[in-house]
Parts: sequence; structure tokens; C-alpha cells
Amino acid sequence: IISVRDLRKSYGTFEVLRGLSFDVARGERIAILGPSGSGKSTLIRCFNRIEPHDSGTLHIDGTVVDARCDLARLRAEVGIVFQNYNLFPHLSAVENCMLAPRLVRGMTRHAARDGAMRRLAQVGIAEQAAKYPIQLSGGQQQRVAIARALCMDPRVVLFDEPTAALDPEAVAGVAAIIDALARDGITTLCVTHEMGFARRIADRIVFMDDGQIMEIAPPETFFTSAVTERARAFLARMV
Ligand code: ATP
Ligand code: MG
Repeated sequence: IISVRDLRKSYGTFEVLRGLSFDVARGERIAILGPSGSGKSTLIRCFNRIEPHDSGTLHIDGTVVDARCDLARLRAEVGIVFQNYNLFPHLSAVENCMLAPRLVRGMTRHAARDGAMRRLAQVGIAEQAAKYPIQLSGGQQQRVAIARALCMDPRVVLFDEPTAALDPEAVAGVAAIIDALARDGITTLCVTHEMGFARRIADRIVFMDDGQIMEIAPPETFFTSAVTERARAFLARMV
């Protein structure tokens, strides 16, 4: 469903993404690992064009992601969940979920509310729908952020360190949601610093260093017999 070829991006003279190529199958769960500053967040931000890439090609579900693509449609198809949730503080959980369907899809209030409640139920927090972000725990806010992305019926969901501020139970909850998405044929790419979480949720690990992909492997291979020196050094620092 995703095809990346020689993707490059620079900030000024600093090349953050230095020619990445890989493919992702529909419904696949990818974990992206790598040292801080290796370009992980930049990579997934290119996928829904929060950051435009400079060269190379990026196809998602048959659409070319480039300067001419329809951003509203792209961002509906490719949802993103940020580490800090980015919920609108002045809107309740259900209102956060209704906003994009109303503004982008032109849904009626009623239809948007129905859809939002269904998604909040799917991530297990329908009973918190009327609360404002500040009244919710970190794990609950993360679930609202996931529900909000799902309200646009995305084919691909990107996660940038979704477990960074969560306790183990909430982390397990996010893992279960990612599994359920995969069963529905939704493709997930998840940047994470937590090796246990990566092992738990990923069909394949993409290991990045210095703006390049150093290694792509199933978790059992990556964690027991990484091929590159950089991946081994990275894993050694993690334990
Ligand atoms: P972390 O694990 O710390 O989140 P990361 O792998 O997600 O790191 P990125 O956020 O993609 O790394 O950043 C990669 C590099 O690009 C870093 O050196 C960063 O300083 C630089 N960078 C990121 N965003 C910008 C920007 N808007 N302008 C200039 N440089 C940037
Ligand atoms: Mg990052």
C-alpha cells in the first residue's frame, strides 16, 4: 500500500532523509526505530505531507504524494497520532473527533457525532466522550487522539511515539488497538523508543540511522541477530 523510492529531504544544508526506499503491505504493522535525530519523525511527517519531501517518490494507496496532491484527501487517508496527542483543549473528546469530519467531509453534526461515538467506543472510552482533554488521563487522551484519526476512515495510521507518556497498562491498550486496526486491513507505522512495544506490535522493524534505512527485518530477527553494526550498537545501548 506504501512505496517509498529514494526519498530525500533537507533542512537548509542538512540532509535529514538521505535516500530511503521501502515498501509496506496493506494491513502491515511497521515499527520505526533509531537513535534520536535519525529522521524518524520527519519520515512519517512526509507521509501525510506535514513536511514536503525534496525528491524521490512516495506512493500511498495508489496516490502519488507530491506538491499537486489533494492534501485534505491525503490527510483523511493517512491519519497521524502525535506523542503529545495535540487535542484541542477547548473541545470535549467527542467534539475533538467530530471536527475534521464536519469541516473536511461536510458531515452533519448528527452523523459526525454518531461516527465519533463509534470510534470512541472502538478504543474503549465512549464513557469519557463529554470530558475535556484536561479531565482525561494521558492514556485516555491518547485513545481520543487515535479515535480522532480513525474518524476519517484512514487506510494508514502513523504514530509518533504513542506510548511515550503512558503506563504499562495504557501501553498494552495502544498495542491492542494497533492489532485491531491491522485486522481491519489498516496499515500502521509507529515510531517508538520502546523495544518491548516494538517487538509486540510490529510485523517488521525499520531501523533508521543518520537519515538512512540501515535494516528492515521481522522483530524476532532484528532483536536477536541484527546484521548491521549500527543496529547492534543501538540495541546494546537500549538494554
Ligand atoms: P527523536 O527520536 O529525537 O524524536 P527523530 O528520529 O524523530 O528523533 P527528527 O525529528 O526526524 O528525528 O529530526 C531529524 C533531524 O532533523 C534532527 O537533527 C533535527 O534537529 C532536524 N530537524 C527536524 N525538524 C527540523 C526543522 N523543522 N528544521 C530544521 N531541522 C529540523
Ligand atoms: Mg521524533
